[in-house]
Amino acid sequence: MSADNGIYILRSLDGYRVTEAGAIENLYWWANCCDKPNVVQDALEDGCFYHDVCQNCNTKDPKFEQREELNPKELLKYFGKCTVYDTQKEVLEEATNIFEEIMDDDMGIVEYGISFIRGWEDKFFPNKNE
Ligand SMILES: [Zn+2]
Repeated sequence: MSADNGIYILRSLDGYRVTEAGAIENLYWWANCCDKPNVVQDALEDGCFYHDVCQNCNTKDPKFEQREELNPKELLKYFGKCTVYDTQKEVLEEATNIFEEIMDDDMGIVEYGISFIRGWEDKFFPNKNE
């Protein structure tokens, strides 16, 4: 079985963020239902399944396409709650802490190790309200 997880560091103009996550390729998927997709997960009445719904155009389960560019909405989902570190040294220390914490568990696995997400170094971290 694959864990599909890793510890990912994002560098932006305002600092460094680190998170442990799976399915990181989601960062490159964009909904193409409208100009300003804002896709959230919506529970069905029976509460067992979730649908993606675009809050901008109300499309249910909009189609996604993979692009070269990072999707700021996904960056917010993955890194929005992270502590911001000023230096690479600090963020690498925190990444190592997270790694060791996971590996302390007998079942712990970090399939992709610690890696950097490239492509946002010259931008500020996306704002929630954009
Ligand atoms: Zn839409």
